[in-house]
Amino acid sequence: MKQAAQEAMAFKGTSVVLAKRECSAICKPQTNYAIDLEQCISCKLCITKLGCPAIYIDNEAITISPQCSGCGLCAQVCPLDAIREVSK
Ligand code: SF4
Ligand code: SF4
Repeated sequence: MKQAAQEAMAFKGTSVVLAKRECSAICKPQTNYAIDLEQCISCKLCITKLGCPAIYIDNEAITISPQCSGCGLCAQVCPLDAIREVSK
């Protein structure tokens, strides 16, 4: 998706990118993710590797906001399996 967006932006003239999934900004996921603070060691890999706007630091605790779209990428990045899927 990132490559497609970059190519579209570099194209001279009108360009359109078609996505296979619905927009994550407007879809309502059935699940999202939360941090298990007992497992988390605050290595911040989930923040520095992804740049997901739903992950932030609140009072020194890694936190996931309700804006989480449930993509699950952060759970794949965490070396300690401290990010877990939770039902909404
Ligand atoms: S990657 Fe995992 S252990 Fe590291 S800060 Fe994020 S949740 Fe915590
Ligand atoms: S599951 Fe996806 S949208 Fe939710 S916090 Fe992790 S990376 Fe961000």
